[in-house]
Amino acid sequence: MPFLDIMNKVRPYAAMRYHVAYTIQAGIEVALPAQRLIINTNQTVVRLQNKAPGARLFVDVPGASATALQVNAFVNFIVGHSFAFGQHRAVLNHAPWRNLYNVAPRVLAYMDSHGAAVVNPATDSVPCVDCDILLPINNITIDHQRPQNGRFEEAVCKVFRSIGLTTGRPTGPKGIHFANLHAATVGGVVGGAPIPVRVAKYTLNDMGKIYYTLAQWCGLTVNGELFNACMDHMINLRPLCHSCNTPLRNVAYF
Ligand SMILES: [Zn+2]
Repeated sequence: MPFLDIMNKVRPYAAMRYHVAYTIQAGIEVALPAQRLIINTNQTVVRLQNKAPGARLFVDVPGASATALQVNAFVNFIVGHSFAFGQHRAVLNHAPWRNLYNVAPRVLAYMDSHGAAVVNPATDSVPCVDCDILLPINNITIDHQRPQNGRFEEAVCKVFRSIGLTTGRPTGPKGIHFANLHAATVGGVVGGAPIPVRVAKYTLNDMGKIYYTLAQWCGLTVNGELFNACMDHMINLRPLCHSCNTPLRNVAYF
C-alpha cells in the first residue's frame, strides 16, 4: 500500500473505525491494548482514546487528535523529503538539505605539478559535517545517521522527533531547524526544553502515537515502507568524508 493511502483513512466513511494504538518506547515498537485510534463517521479527525483499567468505555486523551489537514502535512513531510531505496544521494540536490549543510557551487582552485594555478569552473561542494573538509559533492559520502546496528524504529524516531512527535525534543541543529518549520503543521510539540534523557528521544508522544498507529493501520510498518521512508529521509542523511564515515559510527543505543 503506498504511503499516500494514509489519507484514505481520514476520509468520511459510513462506519466508525478504530484500531489498537501502537507506539515506540525506548526505540522499540509496542502495542497499547488500553489505547486506540478512532475515526468517527463523517469526521476527518483521528483521536487517541484511553481505556482505564476496569472501565468499559474509551475516553479521549486530552489534546491528542489530528485533523485531515495535519495528517496530510505529515504524509507530505515524510514523502516529500525522502528518497527511493538506493537513491539517497539525490539528497545532494534537495534544496532544504543543501541549505542546511551548505552545499553550493564554489571555485576550487589548486596548483598543478608545474606550480601553475588551475582554476576550474565552479562546482558543487560541501563540507564534511564532522571534520569540515570541503569536498566536491562527487567525493562526499552520505551517511545514514540511524541506525547502524540498531532497530528500524530508531530512524523512525529521528524523523518523528524533527516534527515534534517524540517526548524528547531534537537537540541537533538539523532537528531544531526542521521542527521550527514543520512541527506546528502536524500538531507536534514546538520548542520547549529538551528532556535530558536519551530514551525520551526514542519514545513517541501522543501525537507521535497517532501518526505511527495510522501507518501501522495501513500496513506501512509491516511492509517496511515507513522504515524505508525514514531511513532515506533527509533528516537521517548527512555529508561525511570517507575518513569520517567509518563503520564504528552511530552505534545503536537500544
Ligand atoms: Zn570528515
